[in-house]
Amino acid sequence: MSVHVAADRDLCVGAGNCVLTAPDVFDQDEEGLVAVLDTDPAAAADRVAQAVDLCPAGAITATGGKTP
Ligand code: SF4
Repeated sequence: MSVHVAADRDLCVGAGNCVLTAPDVFDQDEEGLVAVLDTDPAAAADRVAQAVDLCPAGAITATGGKTP
C-alpha cells in the first residue's frame, strides 16, 4: 500500500533519523535538512510510518496508506 510523503523543512532539525530509517525515501541536503526523494513510495509504507514516529521534530507526514 502506498503513502504520500511530505516533509516540512521549517520544522526539520536535521536529526537524520528519517534517512537512516528509509534511505530510499529521504535524504538530507547540504544544510542537513530533509529532502524527500520519493513522495509516493510504493513499498515503503511501514518504514515511512516508522520514520514519522522517529522524527523528533514532527516534520514528516504520511497520508494515505493504512487507515487507523
Ligand atoms: S528525522 Fe525529522 S528532523 Fe531528522 S532529518 Fe528527518 S525530517 Fe528532519
